[in-house]
Amino acid sequence: MRKLVAGNWKMFKGPAEARTLCSELADRVGADPAVGLAVCPPYVSLATALAALEGSAVDVFAQSVHWEASGAFTGEVSAEMLLEIGAAGCLVGHSERRQHFGETDETTGARAACALAVGLRVIACVGELEREREAGDTAAVLERQVHAIERAVPNSAQLVVAYEPVWAIGTGKTATADQAQEAHEVIKRILDVPVLYGGSVKPENAAELMAMPDVDGALVGGASLDVDSFVAIRDAAAAA
Ligand code: PEP
Repeated sequence: MRKLVAGNWKMFKGPAEARTLCSELADRVGADPAVGLAVCPPYVSLATALAALEGSAVDVFAQSVHWEASGAFTGEVSAEMLLEIGAAGCLVGHSERRQHFGETDETTGARAACALAVGLRVIACVGELEREREAGDTAAVLERQVHAIERAVPNSAQLVVAYEPVWAIGTGKTATADQAQEAHEVIKRILDVPVLYGGSVKPENAAELMAMPDVDGALVGGASLDVDSFVAIRDAAAAA
């Protein structure tokens, strides 16, 4: 299976910086389909990224989506709106959304269902907190989160799950390749979909993680903000 490497830019890179990064990325990876590639800019930079990446092998995803087509939901963006501008998909349920903006298993499922229904691709994020891992609850937490997604969405070829242990996001701590493999097995027992690993993925650790049989790619935060490191992670995925 072709691996997927997606870059979550979080709240970095407005349109001017997005144009520069995407133009460089398009020059570096062109239309090479060896690895699926996506970037997830902030909403205001989506149109710029789409224009700069047109004709390249890099898809553009949003970082979230609402579950209604329209309505009184200040600050939100609908799946239809993302489709209209040409976005290929969106993230849902990122741990920063869960931690800072009240995202739950249920809202994550609702957002995924709505996006898939209009034809967007979805990367649904799951992962345990440090204290949950220390308490030996990792599998139970993942099962709860993945079952919520499974209940909300039909079996879809457009769905990908990202396993992102919360203690490894933006901390420099990475799950070992064995920890990632074990978690991906738990997820795949419930949903037969590609599973990405996310959590401080860097050029230095990408090859080892990508070599695991159930690691189907990576969701990359910090290291996706730099073209050299993002392309190096993509190269590790291509070689795996
Ligand atoms: C992320 O934002 O999904 C992420 C994994 O971040 P980082 O790679 O910086 O840990």
